Amino acid sequence: MKPMGPIPPWFTSEEGMLLIGGCGAASLVDEVGDTPLFVYDMGIVEAQVRRFRDAMPDGLHLHYAIKANPFAPLLTRMAHLVDGFDVASGGELAMALEAEMAPAQISFAGPGKRNDELSEAIFAGITINLESEGEARRALAVGEAIGKTPRLAVRVNPDFDLKGSGMRMGGGARPFGVDADRAAALARSVIDAGADWQGWHIFAGSQNLDPMAIVEAQAATLALATRLSDAVGKAPPLVNLGGGFGLPYFPGDERLDIRPIGVALDTALDGRGDILADSHFAIELGRWLVGEAGVYLTRIIDIKTSQGETFVVVDGGLHHQLAASGNFGTVVRRNYPMAVANRFDHDPAPGPVTVVGCLCTPIDRLGDKVALPPVVEGDLIALFLAGAYGASASPVAFLGHPAPHELLLG
Ligand SMILES: *Cc1c(COP(=O)(O)O)cnc(C)c1O
Repeated sequence: MKPMGPIPPWFTSEEGMLLIGGCGAASLVDEVGDTPLFVYDMGIVEAQVRRFRDAMPDGLHLHYAIKANPFAPLLTRMAHLVDGFDVASGGELAMALEAEMAPAQISFAGPGKRNDELSEAIFAGITINLESEGEARRALAVGEAIGKTPRLAVRVNPDFDLKGSGMRMGGGARPFGVDADRAAALARSVIDAGADWQGWHIFAGSQNLDPMAIVEAQAATLALATRLSDAVGKAPPLVNLGGGFGLPYFPGDERLDIRPIGVALDTALDGRGDILADSHFAIELGRWLVGEAGVYLTRIIDIKTSQGETFVVVDGGLHHQLAASGNFGTVVRRNYPMAVANRFDHDPAPGPVTVVGCLCTPIDRLGDKVALPPVVEGDLIALFLAGAYGASASPVAFLGHPAPHELLLG
């Protein structure tokens, strides 16, 4: 038997059927007509946003990194809940505008922006987080060519990292941003070239469950933003302090307590350098806002044994929920939380089962030697924490199965 991550504690059942947003899992499948299905409960997202606002200093902006989940109905709702969207491609920019987020509240990060993407961004009046000197040169030239002043911020590769992060994106040699020791010179040069300089974007890491590590990184980020702004000699309109709030996906993980982060950030902002006195500050989050709101429902097609081991084969798999198979940014494969949706209140069977997807590859493993109640063909498997980096972060075309259904509740 191998342990699985903790099922979020608010999930309950009615007559054994898992409830999602107050609705039975099987009736949700009936509603869309088939499995596999991602269900997103907007009530959970709203509660998470409230937790953020309650814990964080007044006036701190909350940005949503839409790559975590760009499902259009969800984006439309998010546009009213958060203060800005962070996009990372021309495609995401179009989705953000479609969701009617105000262009001035959209920022565009990510390496390898093409000239046509820069042009769309400058034309729309969104902020480009510059990833390099070369990109700055191209953005200025594109602005010149279309006769529009570009809004440019400088993404900084910080000279520190967010300790204990699931994904490191700063500190050391990185393809993201420009190194801290060249950032002020880049900001100065775009200001001198006539661009509308928007400030700093400093993102040190992701998927972190240690509040003190996040506090430390935020303090270092604020100190770096002060130092860089002093070197430029101009107050940045916005300092994007990054994000990094993680989710408890795996055995032994505990939910991140964000209250001490808010208290420490409040103190740090109170003591900030004079040059940042009138600046705005933002935190950008993806998975923390939407991850727990999603459940992936997939149906058991076959149950078989091999050399004494039981395999439960479902009609979904890594082509929809790559992260649960352990092949999205993790080094060691561990089990995401899962349950049998239509036997949610049943005790586990004595022996473990391995839940595999329908793809003909050994890496399509959704639950390795997990404890589940006795199952039969047709039962529904629920994979939790499926609201972020699911449908849009998985190789949907691999092996030619249909795309998953998606449904927003609430
Ligand atoms: C991916 C990304 C995020 C979101 O990360 P999460 O771990 O989902 O919160 C935020 N900012 C940037 C720059 C990113 O690349």
